[in-house]
Amino acid sequence: MFRKFLALSLIPAFALPAVPQQLPPQTPASTHKLARPAISQSHFDGKSWWDYVKFLADDRLEGRETGSEGLRQAESYVVEQLRKSGLEPAGADGFYQPVQFESRQIVEKDSSAALIHDGKPEPLTLGDDVIFSTRTGLAPDVQAPLVFVGYGLQIPENKIDDFAGLDLHGKIAVYITGSPADVPAALSAHYGSILERWKPLREAGAEGVISIPNPASIDVPWSRVTANRTAPSMHLVGSEFDDTPGLQLALTVNPASADKFIAGSGHTFAELAGLAKDRKPLPQFPLAVSIHTVAKVQTKTLESANVIARLPGTDPKLSAQSVILSAHIDHLGIGAPINGDSIYNGAMDNAAGCAVLLDVAASLKKSGVKLRRSVIFAFVTGEEKGLQGSRFFATHPTVDKNSIVADINIDMFLPIVPLKRLTVYGLTESDLGDAVTKVAEARGITIQPDQEPLRNVFVRSDQYSFIRQGIPSITMKVGVAPGSPEAQKMKDWLTNRYHVPSDDINQPVDLSAAAGYEEIMRGLLIEVATNPNRPQWKPDSFFRRFVQQRD
Ligand SMILES: [Zn+2]
Repeated sequence: MFRKFLALSLIPAFALPAVPQQLPPQTPASTHKLARPAISQSHFDGKSWWDYVKFLADDRLEGRETGSEGLRQAESYVVEQLRKSGLEPAGADGFYQPVQFESRQIVEKDSSAALIHDGKPEPLTLGDDVIFSTRTGLAPDVQAPLVFVGYGLQIPENKIDDFAGLDLHGKIAVYITGSPADVPAALSAHYGSILERWKPLREAGAEGVISIPNPASIDVPWSRVTANRTAPSMHLVGSEFDDTPGLQLALTVNPASADKFIAGSGHTFAELAGLAKDRKPLPQFPLAVSIHTVAKVQTKTLESANVIARLPGTDPKLSAQSVILSAHIDHLGIGAPINGDSIYNGAMDNAAGCAVLLDVAASLKKSGVKLRRSVIFAFVTGEEKGLQGSRFFATHPTVDKNSIVADINIDMFLPIVPLKRLTVYGLTESDLGDAVTKVAEARGITIQPDQEPLRNVFVRSDQYSFIRQGIPSITMKVGVAPGSPEAQKMKDWLTNRYHVPSDDINQPVDLSAAAGYEEIMRGLLIEVATNPNRPQWKPDSFFRRFVQQRD
C-alpha cells in the first residue's frame, strides 16, 4: 500500500506518516444472516500461495524497487508462471507494458532552506526541520512570504474555502494535514489530493505549498520519516501526468519545528495542532516569516513495466469486455537499515497480492470454468511511488478503455489472523459491493465496511487509478472485529512491519486465511465476469463524478 495518498502530505515515498490515531465511531459489521450453507473451500490450500510469496519476497529480489533488476526478475518469474498456467499475453510487448519514469532526487549538499525574520535569515536544517518533496517540480531558488491556510482545502460540497479573502499571489501556502470533522473521508481524500489542492492555489497565484503533518495522525516517528528522505521519487513521463503545473516549492515540516514558522503571528503551533487533533476549524492568517529555498534536483529517466495477462471470455459479445484483477508487484527496494536489515522485502505488501493473482489465474484456467467476460490480470509497477503503474495502465490501457467494466484490486490483504470477516473498501459505492457480499456470505464470511475511514484506504492503492477513470472498483482485506485481540494484532503489524524490512518471509501468516481469501476472489471474479449486467456506481456514490470526466 502507498504510505499515504501523496496528495495529503507531499512527503517522499518512504517517509509518509501512516495511521491516524483519532478515528470516528466505527460502523458495526454487517448483520446479514447467512442465507445458505457455507460453500466449502476446494480450490486453494495456501501452500502454492506461500510458495509464490517466498519467491517474490526473497532477499535475492532486493525489495523489488521500481526500475530495479530485482523487480525485473520478479516480473520475469510472474510471466513464466502465467505462461505455464496458459494465460495470453495482453501487454504492449508480450506480457509487458513498458512504463517510462523520471526519477528525482534532492541533492541536499547543494540545497538549503531558511526562514527570513525581519530581513534576517534563520537557517533550517534539512531532515531535522524540513524535507523537500520531489513529488512535484522544485524551482532552483524560491523566496516568498508565507500564509497559513488552515487545512488548505477548498470543498464546495461543504462550503469550505480556506483560501477565501487571502492574498496568496506570489506566496507559499502553509497548511496542517487533515480536515474538519464534518467532511466525509472520501471528500477529504479527494480534495486533499495535490491535484485538487493545487488548482485553487494556482488560480490565486500561489507559488508553492508547505505541509505540516497533523501530529494527531502520525504514528511513525519523524526520525523514521527522515531516514529515507533522499530516496528518489518517481514520476510518469508525459504532460498528461503533471498534476501540479506551476508549483515551485513543496516542503514538509517536522511538527516539532513548526513553531519556527508560526512564531510572531500571534498564534502557536500547539494551539493549531490542538484544534486539528479534534478536527475543529482552523484559522487562516499571514505568517510573520518568509522562506528562501535553494533546491538542487538530480533527474534520471528509467523504465519499468506492468505485466498484463488475459484469460479470454467465452461469450461472443461480452468477451470483448474485461474485468481487471490488479495487484502491485513493486515495493520499496533497499533503504535505511532497521535492526541491521536494509532489504524492504514487501512480503505482505504486496508479494501476497501478486501470489493471489497467480493462484487464481492458474485455478480459473485449469478448471475450465466459463467466464463470459475476459479477465485481465494486471501486475502493476510503481505503486509505492504514488500509484504510478496503475495510473499509466488506466490512462493508456492495452485494451479498449470503455471495455473495462471493473477493477478488483488486492494490496496488503493481511492473512495474519483466521478469515472470519472481510473488510471491503468501496462496499457501498458500486454493485461490486453487492457481488462480494453475496460471494463471501455464501462461504460463511461476514462482510464489514471500512472500519477506519480516515485512513482513506480506498484511495491509497491502485484501485484509485481506475476510479479516476470512472471504472467501478473495489478492494478488500482480511477483517477483524473492532476491539478484538485480532484487531490489536493488525495494529501491531502496521506499527512493526508495515514498510519496514521485517515485512519479509520470516513472519507468521495464516495459510488457511490466504486460501479462503483466494476462494472469495475467485468467486467474485466469476460473479462479475458472468453477470449479464455491467457493474455500476451507486447513484449516490461520491466516486460517480469521475464517470463524466472519462476521456
Ligand atoms: Zn506499500
